[in-house]
Amino acid sequence: MTAAVHRVRVVAAVLSRPSGEVLIAERPVGKPLAGRWEFPGGKVIEGESDTGALRRELAEELGVEYETGHHLMDLEHDYPDRSVTLSTWIVERYHGEPRPLEGQRLKWVARAALSAEDLLEADRPIVEALQAVEAAAAGAALASGEPFSVRNPWTGAVDFQFRALSLLELEERIAALRAAQPRWRELGVAGRIEILARWRAALVARKDEILAALCEDTGRQLISAGEFQAVLGYIDRWSRMAPTLAQEEEGQSVAVPTLTYRSQYVPYALVGIISPWNFPLTLGCIDAIPALLAGCAVFLKPSEITPRFAEPLRRAVEDVPELAAVFHLAPGGRATGEALIERADVVCFTGSVRTGRLVAENAARRFIPAFLELGGKDPLIITASADLELATDVALRASCLATGQACQSIERIYVQASCYDAFVARLVEKASQIDINWPERRRGIVGPFIFASQARIVAAQIADAVAKGARVLCGGSIEDHGGQWLRPTVLVDVHHGMTVMTDETFGPVMPVMPWNTLEEALALANDGIYGLSAGVVAGSLEEAEAIARGIDAGAVSLNDGSLTAVMGEAEKHSFKASGLGGSRMGAAGYTRFFRRKALIRQTGRATPLSALAESNLPS
Ligand code: NAD
Repeated sequence: MTAAVHRVRVVAAVLSRPSGEVLIAERPVGKPLAGRWEFPGGKVIEGESDTGALRRELAEELGVEYETGHHLMDLEHDYPDRSVTLSTWIVERYHGEPRPLEGQRLKWVARAALSAEDLLEADRPIVEALQAVEAAAAGAALASGEPFSVRNPWTGAVDFQFRALSLLELEERIAALRAAQPRWRELGVAGRIEILARWRAALVARKDEILAALCEDTGRQLISAGEFQAVLGYIDRWSRMAPTLAQEEEGQSVAVPTLTYRSQYVPYALVGIISPWNFPLTLGCIDAIPALLAGCAVFLKPSEITPRFAEPLRRAVEDVPELAAVFHLAPGGRATGEALIERADVVCFTGSVRTGRLVAENAARRFIPAFLELGGKDPLIITASADLELATDVALRASCLATGQACQSIERIYVQASCYDAFVARLVEKASQIDINWPERRRGIVGPFIFASQARIVAAQIADAVAKGARVLCGGSIEDHGGQWLRPTVLVDVHHGMTVMTDETFGPVMPVMPWNTLEEALALANDGIYGLSAGVVAGSLEEAEAIARGIDAGAVSLNDGSLTAVMGEAEKHSFKASGLGGSRMGAAGYTRFFRRKALIRQTGRATPLSALAESNLPS
């Protein structure tokens, strides 16, 4: 007698965010298959429709309200006693923030990076289908020029539209840049400095229109003005430094003294720059200016989240036709970024670790260098000998500047136990006095979140911390006034099992932990995947430096925080997952745009092959 075979229908929800990430969930501990990632969902009850089951499962499992979705595929799985149909849906519209079942973890993963996850074998075809859908959508979007509707961070209204370049337009622009680059290179550095000086004047002349657009992109005024000044500063600094760098040098072989050499510096023809939304203007120009001075042509792709400044900036470039021939900028999204990597000779990427990994993989496939400036989770160590006023000032400014939306933001604070209570009390006192720049733009200090998803990430980290025992001493809840704001937030009773201590926050959040021994402080500071930068505040610079030497990060600010933003001269590398490639700061920020070529001269007589006869070996 054969056992009855049950037919079971199961729904799987692929919850998808506008950024292209999808949600996967680890089964709760204790359930079969625990420890394996899969898409949320569950069994369809008899008489229920697939979408009805989705609605119920999503509410029960994640606490979100299903709105619309579309069917991706059905998969059949046959077991000895049952036959399961897995109906997979892409859910792009839902309300609420997914929260995990008890004992379960949730994770947002870029669709393109899904195959690296330890997913259930049964889910593999879903991953392939998702990636095929994504590739087809990206291909179609690129072919015709992807349209973007952009949200205003201050008002929350979608008030700006643009169309990214189509593939054909991108290829035309790149061909034109490549055609103009040899002449640009032949101009020599003095000629290029002169042209960049004219661009500087054009920028100053168009300051108001560039700034007006940048303020709309970011929802902040003073920092936008600072970004503009910083770009002028980059032109000045690199114009001063470039003539002294990349000088051809001569030398001689020690082994074969008749050989001498001259080293030639050959610029890459086309540098592709992909920049993020948090400092749209400076992070677009920070690599473009040294690359242009080095003799490269540059294609800059600003983020689709903050594209408004690109148009007035392009007008300032077009005011200087010699520059416009070798410098093109056009905002776009992922598809434009990927197409640029396919066509450039070197890539400068500033953005998240997640995207940076994809950029690195694509660049590696083409054997082109990728300079990656990625995320951080900067620690600040404070000793009992530190001046309390200074320490709290540094912590507050370095955590909350630009609403914490800076890669080099202080995101976790470790304070020596003997002064912990006094530090926390004073920090909370100061943090509580900081206002947001709403309802008037020209007031307060803390601006809105530029990217709406970032507010959700920060809220989820705070919720996770509170669920695990943290206390919020000030701030802590997102204020929605169209745009979204968070007042400076101090968290205590935190530990490294909370995402707020391990994942990049990018918000004005200050989790504070006490430490007893220096070893403990360093172990906490060095915990995690990031190694961008850090800070130490101590009683003296010597004491701070001794601690800083033990921190696993590319730069450490002593008796201050986040100084990398203003120190252009000191070379630094990103440690661990915070980046890869030559330093953006210091002389290497310029020389990395050249390949060194050795011109090796034989001043004697070239060796004939007969000199290598075996019989010439002395017996
Ligand atoms: P992101 O990685 O989401 O996007 C960065 C850029 O990459 C955007 O222009 C985007 O359109 C583009 N892009 C997206 N997918 C791509 C792909 N597959 N191929 C090529 N390009 C692609 O980063 P974001 O959210 O805009 O920026 C915030 C992140 O940037 C944070 O992690 C922050 O720490 C980091 N950041 C680092 C530095 C630094 O110097 N280390 C500076 C500022 C910001």
